[in-house]
Amino acid sequence: MADDKIIDGKLIAETMKKEIAAEVAEMIDKGIGAPHLAAVLVGDDEASLTYVTSKEKACHKVGMISSVYKLSSNATEEEVLNIIDFLNKDDEIDGYIVQLPLPEHINETKVIQSINPNKDVDGFTLCNIGLMQLGEPCYHPATPFGIKELLKRSGVEIAGKHVVVIGRSNIVGTPISVMLSRKGTDATVTICHSKTQNLKELTVQADILIVAVGQVEFVKADMVKEGAVVIDVGIHRIKDNSEKGYHIVGDVDFKEVYKKASKITPVPGGVGPMTIVSLLYNTLKAAKSNKK
Ligand code: NDP
Repeated sequence: MADDKIIDGKLIAETMKKEIAAEVAEMIDKGIGAPHLAAVLVGDDEASLTYVTSKEKACHKVGMISSVYKLSSNATEEEVLNIIDFLNKDDEIDGYIVQLPLPEHINETKVIQSINPNKDVDGFTLCNIGLMQLGEPCYHPATPFGIKELLKRSGVEIAGKHVVVIGRSNIVGTPISVMLSRKGTDATVTICHSKTQNLKELTVQADILIVAVGQVEFVKADMVKEGAVVIDVGIHRIKDNSEKGYHIVGDVDFKEVYKKASKITPVPGGVGPMTIVSLLYNTLKAAKSNKK
């Protein structure tokens, strides 16, 4: 039997994929063509390669076109910028991402800020970040967008609630804090980081606690209010003697915190599956506007 306490990211992501696939099929039927997502991959970082491969698979699953522009780890900044220029101009490409991190000799900021904001489906350009701050339509970064969808689709009331976010990174903590506090979503948000004093005093006030701290099982039961909704963004591989050789845990001590929470995301199977589907959502949105 389904456990009502668990926010099942896998299931919600599957539902969203079906919705996206139906819209893609309609675009193809109408002769508009399938949305096309490209990825730029520089170097041979294994985690990046795995991530780009899963993006390709997810694209194909919903009927989208996917392409990867691979460059070796000693590619020059100019070579990367030339690809960006090509992708910006190519009408066939609706959206693209530059897989991070880039090799050290390449200026990440310069590369990211060269992306055409209309094709910036990761929502990393200054234009999209600025529009997000203003609460205007834009591409939201994938993980925070996925968290917001998880909350909405699990029936969690956000308006007027106190959300406490642990972590202020540019890809998770900061954007989710901004998104949830904007008009229309209307949460009251407290953002915490490594210099926050008396962290526990703040976290126990949270109706919704979002944890993106990057530390194994950092949040314990005594940091959580009875009945809080807990969203665990963390992903950590812990080596073990299993066949796979590892298992995955989050930033929250799930076993302890589960007992206190009214709803909680598991790791794996919570926020993780939402990130890629959010990228597909942004690509569909880009295609709808580009192929008009
Ligand atoms: P970062 O390492 O960039 O940021 C961690 C944040 O936590 C920083 O703001 C840091 O503060 C803060 N922090 C660190 N220690 C403490 C502490 N003791 N008390 C309070 N705050 C603290 O991480 P990310 O945001 O990139 O990622 C967070 C986690 O989420 C990681 O486990 C990552 O693997 C995972 N992740 C998962 C994704 C998914 O798809 N599910 C996507 C992206 C990330 P300060 O700013 O002061 O340094």
